[in-house]
Amino acid sequence: MANATFDIEKVRKDFPILQRKVNGKDLVYFDNAATSQTPKQVIDSIVDYYENYNANIHRGVHSLSQEATDAYEQARIKIQKHFNAQKPHEIIFTSGTTHAINLVANSYGSFLKPGDEVLVSALEHHSNIVPWQMMCEKTGAQMKVIPMLNNGQLDMNFFHKEVSSKTKMVFVNHVSNALGTINPIEEIIATAHAHGAKVLVDGAQSAPHIQADVQELDVDFYTVSAHKICGPTGVGILYGKEELLEQMPPYQGGGEMIAEVSFEKTTYAGLPHKFEAGTPNIAGGIAFGVALDYMHSIGFNVINAYENELLTYATERIKEVNGVIIYGPENPKDKTAVLSFNVEGLHAYDIGTILDQMGIALRTGHHCAQPIMDYYQIPGTARASFSFYNTKKEIDSFIEALKKAVSMLS
Ligand SMILES: *Cc1c(COP(=O)(O)O)cnc(C)c1O
Repeated sequence: MANATFDIEKVRKDFPILQRKVNGKDLVYFDNAATSQTPKQVIDSIVDYYENYNANIHRGVHSLSQEATDAYEQARIKIQKHFNAQKPHEIIFTSGTTHAINLVANSYGSFLKPGDEVLVSALEHHSNIVPWQMMCEKTGAQMKVIPMLNNGQLDMNFFHKEVSSKTKMVFVNHVSNALGTINPIEEIIATAHAHGAKVLVDGAQSAPHIQADVQELDVDFYTVSAHKICGPTGVGILYGKEELLEQMPPYQGGGEMIAEVSFEKTTYAGLPHKFEAGTPNIAGGIAFGVALDYMHSIGFNVINAYENELLTYATERIKEVNGVIIYGPENPKDKTAVLSFNVEGLHAYDIGTILDQMGIALRTGHHCAQPIMDYYQIPGTARASFSFYNTKKEIDSFIEALKKAVSMLS
C-alpha cells in the first residue's frame, strides 16, 4: 500500500487549517493525540453529501436515500477491509470510542456476575475505566488493575500472575494517549484467551499510526474514533467478533434496530443494525471511509516511519531544555509520536499558555488518564503529539519557544 515517496509540502497543502495563523504566528499543531486535522478530501466529501445526496438511509425507496445508503455501506466495507474484519457487519458505527466502549460495557458487560473478575490496565483513558466501573457496580463483578511501571509500560508479571479462570474480560489500550506506550496486546490477548477471558482493545490512539489486523490479533472487541485518524468528529466504530455480537443484547432501543415492534413484543434486527439505533452520523461515516483512503494514499508504513523520525528528533532536541523530565518509554521505538513532559519547578499549564501565545498548540493536564498522573504524583504533563503532516522545522520552532517559555517562567 505504501508509496515509495512522501511529499510533505504537498501533503500539508491538503490541510487548509495548517495555513492559518494563531496569535499572529504560524500555527504549529502538536495536539494530534486529542484530535487530528482534516484534509480537504475529507471536508469535500462532507460538503458533497449535504449538497448532493443528503437523505436518511436504509428506509427510502427514493434515489437519494439509496445513494446515501450505498455510500454509507461502502464506508463500512472500507473500514472492514482496513482492519481486516471477516464480515462488514462486524463493524458497528458509533459516535466514537467512548460510545463503542459503553456499548460493550452495557451489553456484553451485562453477562458479568458476582465472583467474576475483570482486569483493566493502569494506562487507560477514563473512557475505558469508568463504563466498566459502572458495570461492575451493577453486576457485582470485581475490577483489578494491571499496574504500570516507571518506564510507562505495563507490569506484565502482575498480569500473568493475576489472570485466572475468574477473569472474564481484560481492557487495555493498544497505545496510551498520555504517554504513547505501545502495549503488548498480542501477549495480553493470547494469555487472556488461554484463561477463557475476552479482550477489549481501545484502538483510539493506535489507529492513526498502526494498521491493526483484528483477525491476526484475534481481538474480541476493538474501538476507534474517526476524528483522530483525519476523519470528522462524532463518528467511530466498534469492531466485534460476529459470534459475540450475535449473543449480545442491544444497547439502545429505537428506530433502525428492530425487526418488528408491537406493544406485546419487539424483535430485533440482525447485525449490524441491532446496535445502530436511530439515524446515524451518515456524512461522518462516509467521510471516515474517505479519511482511510487518504491515509492509504500516503501509506501507513510511510506515516509510521516518518512520525518515528519526528519523535526521535524531538526527543533529542527537548533535552537541550534545562530541567526537562520525559514520561513514558525511553526508546521512541516503544511508542507512537507522543512526547509527554514537564519542566522541573514549572506548571505544564503555564508552559502551554505561553506556547499558545507563540502559535504552538500542545495539550496540558491529565489527558483523561488521571491514574497515570497519580502514579507519577504529578497533576499533569505537557504533551506534544506529532502527525505525518508535521515537520522538523516545526519541532525547531517548538524547542525555541519552549526555551523562551522556561526562561520567562523561571
Ligand atoms: C481519545 C481517546 C479516547 C476517547 O475517544 P473519544 O473520541 O473522545 O470517544 C479513548 N481512549 C483513548 C486511548 C483515546 O486516545
